[in-house]
Amino acid sequence: MINGLIKSVGKKGTKWSNWAGNVECVAEQVFYPRTEAEIVEIIQLATGEKKRIRVVGEGHSFSPLIATDYFIISLKYMAGIIHIDQENLLATAWAGTSINKANTALFKSGLAMINLGDIDVQSLGGATATGTHGTGTSFGNVSTEITAFTIITASGEILNCSKDENTDLFMAGRVSLGTFGIITKMTFNVVKAYKLEYTSSSNDFYKTLDTLEESNEKNRNFEFYYFPYSDKLQIKETNITDKPVKHNKMLAYINDVFLENTVMSMVSKIGITFPSTAKTLSRWMAKAVPKGTTIDYSHEIYATVRNVYFKEMEYNIPIEHFKACIQEFKDLLEKNEYFVFFPVECRFVKGDDIWLSPAYGRDSAYIAIHVFKEQAHDPYFKDMEALFMRYNGRPHWGKMHTRTAETLSTTYEKWDDFLALRAKMDPDKLFLNPHLEAVFGV
Ligand SMILES: Cc1cc2nc3c(=O)[nH]c(=O)nc-3n(C[C@H](O)[C@H](O)[C@H](O)COP(=O)(O)OP(=O)(O)OC[C@H]3O[C@@H](n4cnc5c(N)ncnc54)[C@H](O)[C@@H]3O)c2cc1C
Repeated sequence: MINGLIKSVGKKGTKWSNWAGNVECVAEQVFYPRTEAEIVEIIQLATGEKKRIRVVGEGHSFSPLIATDYFIISLKYMAGIIHIDQENLLATAWAGTSINKANTALFKSGLAMINLGDIDVQSLGGATATGTHGTGTSFGNVSTEITAFTIITASGEILNCSKDENTDLFMAGRVSLGTFGIITKMTFNVVKAYKLEYTSSSNDFYKTLDTLEESNEKNRNFEFYYFPYSDKLQIKETNITDKPVKHNKMLAYINDVFLENTVMSMVSKIGITFPSTAKTLSRWMAKAVPKGTTIDYSHEIYATVRNVYFKEMEYNIPIEHFKACIQEFKDLLEKNEYFVFFPVECRFVKGDDIWLSPAYGRDSAYIAIHVFKEQAHDPYFKDMEALFMRYNGRPHWGKMHTRTAETLSTTYEKWDDFLALRAKMDPDKLFLNPHLEAVFGV
């Protein structure tokens, strides 16, 4: 089993699907190497038999990055922290390590990751390959914390990459969707373990936009959820604290269990059966926003549980366009019958220098939109994607989008350099699948 996602192993191959269930494939073979030498052997086998390879993390991407008829490699047995450098605050881990296992191991050594997204089940290799991010204008996406990695290329070479060694591969490879090869281990910045004070509250849409800059400045991590067809938001403010751990059981229950899972599940069932209730359901959820504060160590605060399966699109917008874009988004949503009852998540991230990172060269806002997994995502996603594109939006690589090389090439300054490096590293397209061929136009 690959991380619980394999549906069946039959004569014709192994059925695989992603977390959301919107991407499926039957791979000819699935490999679970335990050493770098075994990966080299699999690459030689694939090359000899003219097969292709996709490397999988925890299958939590919504875009068809893994789908292949050929070989899938999972690094689930190449997991764990390899080395901790307490003096320089660096940790080295196998790329198959899940974020939550990395968090636990680091915490035992008095350390923590610097900033994270809202789940912790992804693998380090998978999360960084798509530019997974949290929120906070002082922080880049998770890949920006990588200081070095080891990659096995299409020719079977094992290369160490950092700012000083194989520099181009390092600059591009930290967000490279598994197209340059298989990253086996990585070294990343860590900090001393820290506590976060998280406050949830409700606020007005327009007031929040008016004070957005201050909110981003005064909070380490600021984000909000906008409830469609209402003027209400859930505000999430998170800051470092020395105060003792304080569990607000009611907040945790209302937010994580009740609102994000139990209610979301109930609302989804009603919303999908009776689409015309979407407005009422969304407005009702806006009124139920939990208010309160909880304090815990960082890894306990970042991660939430997601028991309701959904489909998601997320776009990166230059931060200076965010207010205009979200205002237009709200107007468009209210004018059309999209029957949306999932809140819209807005987060803020510092720009970076990773060639195909959605935040390359610009401080950014991210707008994430969702539908229940059984609900049609178009025309909602289609219309909103067109809107995001008008604001020079770049898609989150791990989420649903319909972009191909034709329009992507003009939004990334380093597009041609990335493509040239990819062609040099993998001229026979060993690490591509049909989705990636369309994305890169090769
Ligand atoms: C419920 C849910 C919540 C989410 N929350 C967030 C969030 O808060 N912020 C955010 O930015 N994203 C979020 N995501 C998206 C998710 O973080 C990304 O899609 C991430 O890439 C998934 O990691 P994974 O380990 O499952 O990788 P997979 O989906 O399995 O793979 C993703 C990519 O990584 C490549 N890859 C995997 N391992 C390696 C390796 N060893 N070497 C080279 N390439 C590799 C794969 O080939 C593929 O291209 C969320 C997704 C879900 C389902």
